Amino acid sequence: MPQKEAIRGRVTGLASRACALLAAAWLCLAMASAAMAQTPVQTASVASARVMPEPARIGAARLGDHGDKTRFVLELSRDAPFSILPDANGVVVEMEAALDAALPAAKGLVRAVAVRPGMKAGHLRLVLSTTGPVRVLLAEVIPPRDGMPPRFVMDLAAGRAGRGAVLTPASVSTMNPPVPAEKPKPTLPMIVIDPGHGGQDPGAIAVGGGYEKDITLAMAKELRRQLLATGRYRVALTRDSDTYIPLRDRPGIARAKGADLFISLHADSITSKQVRGLSVYTLSDKASDREAEMLAQRENQSDAIVGLDLSVQSADIASILIGMSQRDALNRSRRFASLLLKNLDPKIAVLPGPMRSAGFAVLTAPDVPAVLVEMGYLSHSQDAKLLGSDAHRKRMAGSLLRAVDGYFTGNAVPPRS
Ligand SMILES: [Zn+2]
Repeated sequence: MPQKEAIRGRVTGLASRACALLAAAWLCLAMASAAMAQTPVQTASVASARVMPEPARIGAARLGDHGDKTRFVLELSRDAPFSILPDANGVVVEMEAALDAALPAAKGLVRAVAVRPGMKAGHLRLVLSTTGPVRVLLAEVIPPRDGMPPRFVMDLAAGRAGRGAVLTPASVSTMNPPVPAEKPKPTLPMIVIDPGHGGQDPGAIAVGGGYEKDITLAMAKELRRQLLATGRYRVALTRDSDTYIPLRDRPGIARAKGADLFISLHADSITSKQVRGLSVYTLSDKASDREAEMLAQRENQSDAIVGLDLSVQSADIASILIGMSQRDALNRSRRFASLLLKNLDPKIAVLPGPMRSAGFAVLTAPDVPAVLVEMGYLSHSQDAKLLGSDAHRKRMAGSLLRAVDGYFTGNAVPPRS
């Protein structure tokens, strides 16, 4: 096994070095996989080829300031495919790996490093915000040697590279002089929490008394408290008090806040008193089942309660759903929904088939991953009692926090039992 790893490492290492000259670094991925496919060892070990390998783990991450360049280093458990993506505020490294290390503090040309979910499951994005325009001098995975683990190394220098340019140090000197970068983005992920209903719209009414609007607000505040306590997120609430906000305005708030994730909190109520448990919804123009469709209709009634014109809103939903053809935000929404179910505290009851979809007005920000969590049924006596309790609120928020952690780092902590 170690021998095989070494061969693979050398081949991909060569591919990576060739790429450093081309520096259109996404090519590295293609070249490295092509190189691996031609390795005889690969074709010989048919049995192991069928097994999905463990994702590479990033055991350490650091920045070094070398005066004329800033070096970004990741220590890897094994070679990992990566790509370098341009970003208005710096450079993005997309890598098939999971992060076990703390991210380094600002150094040299790098103002901050943040982690985001990657485009595919098992991928992550390291977002390097820089002090100004930078060019990538080199990006490669160095094979293990002298007892050192494989390392991803990327060198950045100040300046702007031309589109599709060859980023060797010699050629970049002829390019445009550095110009100040656009307004830098804050780097911590922004979570926007949306407590359902409010003001004139109480939402569902609990069997023992109490309103959905108060339960969702209390839950949103507890989730905000837990998220902020980690120091890893920024948090905004669509409402912080008992006020009415039209449904159609809520996705707009998420976009205006620059949300990386939008979580709408609700609790349902139906005539059957036996039904209980949590479910989580993503947006769809076709409801996953009749119940989901009815629920979306109930939740979408919110604006009708206070006399707003629903026909306008429906037109908005239709046009936004067409815009969803990119599917990216929706795929991310589904990923978060499934992480939430995986990370739920075992004490929280779950509805059968808990991952559902329907046309919820509140989930229609086209480029923001968004879920609607129905935390339980206020028509069920036990659910209603739990949703009003402090201990259950902490459990629920803790489950959401683990899902958020899993979504942004791929490192969800298993629930305490
Ligand atoms: Zn609701």
